[in-house]
Amino acid sequence: MKCAIVLALAVAFGAVQIAPSDPSWRQPFDPIRIVGNIYYVGTRGLSSFLLVTPAGGVLIDSGEAESVPFIRANVERLGFRMSEIKILLAGHAHFDHVGGHAEMKRLTGAGVMVMDADRQALESGVDRSALGAQGWSPVKVDRVLKDGDTVSLGGTTLTAHLTPGHTQGCTTWTTEATQDGRRYRVAFACSVTINQGVHLVSNTRVPAIAEHYAQAFRVLHGLTPDVFVAEHGGVFGLDAKAETARDLEKGQPNPFVDPQGYRRFVEKAEQTYLTQLRAEQGK
Ligand SMILES: [Zn+2]
Repeated sequence: MKCAIVLALAVAFGAVQIAPSDPSWRQPFDPIRIVGNIYYVGTRGLSSFLLVTPAGGVLIDSGEAESVPFIRANVERLGFRMSEIKILLAGHAHFDHVGGHAEMKRLTGAGVMVMDADRQALESGVDRSALGAQGWSPVKVDRVLKDGDTVSLGGTTLTAHLTPGHTQGCTTWTTEATQDGRRYRVAFACSVTINQGVHLVSNTRVPAIAEHYAQAFRVLHGLTPDVFVAEHGGVFGLDAKAETARDLEKGQPNPFVDPQGYRRFVEKAEQTYLTQLRAEQGK
């Protein structure tokens, strides 16, 4: 009987509720230039990136629903209007990265573009990944993307790389940026952590999840960015790099240029994946 009640509740709410695991998710963070026309406009713990072009802005990730006022304040502090944001992209369809999408779309009128395999989740507001956490306000998708598709605005072109596992449509974005006459390859890495409680073997929600992660690591190993960022600041050392960048004197190297940091990030994440995979396979 008790089981039936619990089950009924689970069905009624449809998802596991996950509280913000980290208070930094709701802490303000001064916007900062990453490189060229790319700015960090998220909270301390949840990334959002603004790419500024002569034809308007591209925003990657909207954080949680609660992140939107923080992002808006940062965008406006940079002297940019919300209505100038024309395109809204995502790393992956979890509540802490697309939770603000519906409100952001309403505020900006931007076109929402998402990888095919995360489209249903985004449009239904239901977490369809192996995690199955809480949902978000549904948002209509204006353009569905396939692996390798490009998104262009005002001379800036982003390429969508499918790096699945964390969600089925997890997308790593790459672009190029220019600063002080130099070109930089930039990667916005999708999350490649394995959420707590998610199994790689005999996963009934996403049977191919282990192969998905393997595909993601193959793709990430093939990228060679000069600058890399990710969907949580801790992954790419946001706090320390931003602090260095704010005190930078002319001619000093940009701390966000960190090709070795990118390789370490990929190798460490892959090791964590392989360790869990072997443990689950009983090897
Ligand atoms: Zn996630």
